[in-house]
Amino acid sequence: MTLTPCQISNFGLSGVMNDSEVRELLQKLPPIHVANPPLHSISYVDKVYYTQPGHRRFPPELVWGECNIVSEQRVGVVTLFRQQEQGNNDVYDFEFTIYHEIGHTVFELILGSNQKIEWYSLCGEEIARWNPAGGNPLEHFCDSYAHYMVSNEMEKRSFSSEYEFMKKYVFNIGGIQ
Ligand SMILES: [Zn+2]
Repeated sequence: MTLTPCQISNFGLSGVMNDSEVRELLQKLPPIHVANPPLHSISYVDKVYYTQPGHRRFPPELVWGECNIVSEQRVGVVTLFRQQEQGNNDVYDFEFTIYHEIGHTVFELILGSNQKIEWYSLCGEEIARWNPAGGNPLEHFCDSYAHYMVSNEMEKRSFSSEYEFMKKYVFNIGGIQ
């Protein structure tokens, strides 16, 4: 089966990486995570974007990225936004956000229902320790997905349950059904 790579656009405007550097980041992931489908595209929009009134994060915070799942086509559309008013200067945060948003597509469109159930039960034990302010299991999945890609060995040890889950079910393509 031939996989079609997802579209990548406008990252040259970010000031921290261009489209081909994003392509290189994506090539570190299992090909099925970044093929179209399920990942339609990933693009950069050079504007600051705040959470809107009524959002769980209030007062408004900068939104670094989003992933819209288009349910009819079963694809994810990822957009990254400018991370600071004055522009982008943190490559680590930028890479982390790219992986986090791809994680949303992976959770929604690739992860099997048994794995989702297992993730939710793992979160019941782990999320309070990880994010005492209260996060949700879906965002925690995406953060863990990104950490798996960008963290050093010491950081990986501090989230060993999540790391094992990622290794076993998410980054091992054969383990996903
Ligand atoms: Zn998210």
